[in-house]
Amino acid sequence: MTLVPIAGRTEQLDSGSPSLDDLRKWDREIVWHAFSQMAEYDGLIIESAKGCWLTTIDGQKILDGASSLWCNVHGHTHPKIDAAIVRQLSQVAHVTSLGMSHPATIQLAKRLVDLSPVGLNHVFFSSDGASAVEVAMKMAFQFWRQCPEPQPNRNTFLAVGNSYHGDTLGACSVSDVTRFKSVFDPLLFSVLRGPCPDSYRFPVSLDIRVAQSNERRDANHASVPFNPLTQYYLDQYEAILKQHAANVAAVIVEPLVQGAAGMVVHPPGFLSGLRELTHKYDTLLIADEIAVGIGRTGKMFACEHENVSPDLLCIGKGLTGGYLPMSATLASSQIWNAFLGNYSANIAFQHGHTYGGNPLAAAAAQATLDVFEEEQTLDRLVMKSQRLSELLKKISDHPDVGDVRQVGFIAAVELVADKVTKRPLPTLERRGATVCREALKHGVWLRPLGNVIPIVPPFSIEEHELELLVNALCAGIENTIS
Ligand SMILES: *Cc1c(COP(=O)(O)O)cnc(C)c1O
Repeated sequence: MTLVPIAGRTEQLDSGSPSLDDLRKWDREIVWHAFSQMAEYDGLIIESAKGCWLTTIDGQKILDGASSLWCNVHGHTHPKIDAAIVRQLSQVAHVTSLGMSHPATIQLAKRLVDLSPVGLNHVFFSSDGASAVEVAMKMAFQFWRQCPEPQPNRNTFLAVGNSYHGDTLGACSVSDVTRFKSVFDPLLFSVLRGPCPDSYRFPVSLDIRVAQSNERRDANHASVPFNPLTQYYLDQYEAILKQHAANVAAVIVEPLVQGAAGMVVHPPGFLSGLRELTHKYDTLLIADEIAVGIGRTGKMFACEHENVSPDLLCIGKGLTGGYLPMSATLASSQIWNAFLGNYSANIAFQHGHTYGGNPLAAAAAQATLDVFEEEQTLDRLVMKSQRLSELLKKISDHPDVGDVRQVGFIAAVELVADKVTKRPLPTLERRGATVCREALKHGVWLRPLGNVIPIVPPFSIEEHELELLVNALCAGIENTIS
């Protein structure tokens, strides 16, 4: 597929606006892009979008295979969500959450409580995912200082290997993606760290037992009650908690799939096992569902897959359908109650963000939830997820592909140097980026995580678009060699 500029498009967007070359130059020289080496920066500039398609300023149409970084849900310029925002705009764009509120924000909070796992009865709004994580951590920390039987020694967190929880300093401290955080190490606080419960890469000594249990699982078409890999990881978490629980304010985990780690999929039962451990050792569980929440795994919340109700749950990304910045930290009544008292007790949660609970974002979020109901998005996603896994089968045979993994509508293809030993490709080779550049030539935008290519399209993607996406990725892998 070649990309044809829209007929009649001139170099000028509108009379009086800058030339496209000016825009490209300013974008490289003035705008400081996230996670980008600006000395080499050469990104797309998107003028508009419709459904799953992005249109660049020079008229190229590109399939959004990354849901604009995992946050678009029902497609771009969805008429229902657009209309909800316009309606809200005619009332009021912003109302502070310090001593005031707005019906859109209040109703959204109520809906989130009704939708989320039982016990999460309170909602604190922020503007981005990292802040929702900061809020959860600060709530957990403060909780232990003022709960009925205070335990002020609980001042650290137990976090998961290779986890990612955002880029502010607190979220960065519990995160573990070395490339993102090593330079900031002197600023970060230390935490306890368990292993990454990876179901692709695990100790060779477990190989045979895992293979046997997979065989049993295939035969039964159901997960086996005893998964040696799950047990292997949980044992290590238990060992840490046994020794340090008295100091652990909370365990923080990305349920089921660790996004930025490379869409690492946990073995079944890990989340529920971890939840049992937090009960056994009397500590809190923070579920960071910023990437996996709002339907991405096939259920509204990933925790539902294993019947887990965490004490604190963070959502962001898809909350507004990928329209406006909004995140939320949901808390149990146990947490909330520990913050209640009279003014002089000074136990209120002293934290806030100027735009927390913004009514425009709340209207977009409510419309996003409406569309889930009206379009039966999650029911229709079942077929689409099956179709995606069928399409990905042809990729898994490729000699450079070590693993193809998928949970609901998150999938990823991991490129390796050696399929048998799972030896990773050298990072500096940047094969993942090369593959995505090649896929772009075929009209599909994918954003690599090292040598892992995530496939995270909007839920509204049609079957033929899904085929185009996978074909472009195939071509990307075949036309580039390591
Ligand atoms: C994206 C992400 C965050 C951070 O969200 P921002 O809105 O980028 O701050 C936190 N946790 C997880 C699991 C994420 O995927």
